[in-house]
Amino acid sequence: MNGLEAIVSGIIDSGVKKVTGVPGYPITDLMEALGDIIKHEWSINEKVALEIALGSSVCGQRCAVITKHVGMNILSDPLVTSAIHTIGAGVVIFAGDDPGIEKSQNEQDSRFYGSIAEVPVFDPGTTENAYICVKEAFMLSEKVRTPVIIRLTNRLLKSNGDFVRKSEQIQSKPIDKKIWHLTMLGKHQRFHVESFPHMCKYAETSILNLYKINEKKGDIGIISSGFPSSLVDSIIPDNISHLSLTIVNPLPIDLIDRFIKKHSRVLVVEETEPVIEKQVSKRVFGKLTGHMPYGIAEEEDIKRAIGNINIDTVKRDIVPQTIEKRGTRPMCEDCPYMPLYFAIKELDVPVAGDLGCSIMTSSPPLSIIDAAFSLGSSISTACGFNRKGIAIIGDYGLAHSGIPAMINAVHNEHEVVVVVLQNEVAAMTGGQEVPDLTGLVSNYIKDTVILNPDEKNIRNILNEKLKKNGVSVILAPAKCPRY
Ligand code: SF4
Repeated sequence: MNGLEAIVSGIIDSGVKKVTGVPGYPITDLMEALGDIIKHEWSINEKVALEIALGSSVCGQRCAVITKHVGMNILSDPLVTSAIHTIGAGVVIFAGDDPGIEKSQNEQDSRFYGSIAEVPVFDPGTTENAYICVKEAFMLSEKVRTPVIIRLTNRLLKSNGDFVRKSEQIQSKPIDKKIWHLTMLGKHQRFHVESFPHMCKYAETSILNLYKINEKKGDIGIISSGFPSSLVDSIIPDNISHLSLTIVNPLPIDLIDRFIKKHSRVLVVEETEPVIEKQVSKRVFGKLTGHMPYGIAEEEDIKRAIGNINIDTVKRDIVPQTIEKRGTRPMCEDCPYMPLYFAIKELDVPVAGDLGCSIMTSSPPLSIIDAAFSLGSSISTACGFNRKGIAIIGDYGLAHSGIPAMINAVHNEHEVVVVVLQNEVAAMTGGQEVPDLTGLVSNYIKDTVILNPDEKNIRNILNEKLKKNGVSVILAPAKCPRY
């Protein structure tokens, strides 16, 4: 079976009652693989998805949340609070990272959220480990009364392996309301007296952290986590020891100390950022010393780093990848929004794009957007322009997090023309359905018009809206031929 099947089996065998999430690479297939077995939903955004999971936990039902790495930024608000607040039944967040940036806007490392929120993070390296991780994560979540994060990557989800399934009878575990007898200060103290020490003890003793001593007693060791652990196992000679970590927050510091003391040179292999290495730096080699590259870790990188292990600092080569070299997903030639995009191109105004299909207008021949920071960001970005400009946003981006920006634009009297691409699907993530916000928007913004994107007069209409004061909205409905 592959890693994805291991995770799905783990969710089912852990007695999970509900799964929420937001689609995106590399985790979209995970939700879809649940079929009819468990109640699940694509939520409007990741904060909403986690809040539903927390509500489910309060009533004693285990719940999972599926998100890509950038979604961790959106759900971080209730995540950070939930650790001190406490929960009832287990909540596990599956965070899909994208080392190598195959299909994302950045390469961020979800393991950092473990330190920020002070919650456990599992970083499984094999299919077998992934299955056990899910079951352990739900148990640990209930024990320490916080959500647990499991970091996933595309290579792990596609890796093959064996595991033995075992389903268990799960007792309903609602929240213990005695927590409300404590002040906020008291809740934080309780966390550090009860929950956090238990997490540390678990990390130090978990069977998921594998300590493999070399047979030939060499003095080189490798510490790794996540999918790169499988790569290390497949290439290291038998005179190198390997500490393969699955629990990466809190780090099992005593275990790592014992390992480092037994070796004169220790390499850390992890992706994407030096999360482990930073916590034990000056005694190990890795990304900070130039031995390993930032981002994705390949077998060749590990072999080169082992070859350089007796050098203290390795000069890092910067190989900038240009768009020409890497290639980008081109704009669909039959996209119904082309006439609208070309009309915007003829206007000399700043344009904020979003992270749906409009991001593809950044490349020639259109090259119309000046910036696109995150999903749902275009309206507020355009509100910051020094003159009235255009915000292009998909109907999915608007529902995800664009609506508060629209409310703010009206409330604080900003100047912006909002163009909503209403194709009724999240086209970038596989065509998931999007709610119809026509009534909500047109009731709230007086200057709202509905226009076909191939309307002949569209350039004049855009110009007219740009000359008016305040917020104008153009709703542009069209069917995406891909979905
Ligand atoms: S996926 Fe659909 S909406 Fe997006 S660019 Fe292609 S045709 Fe246009």
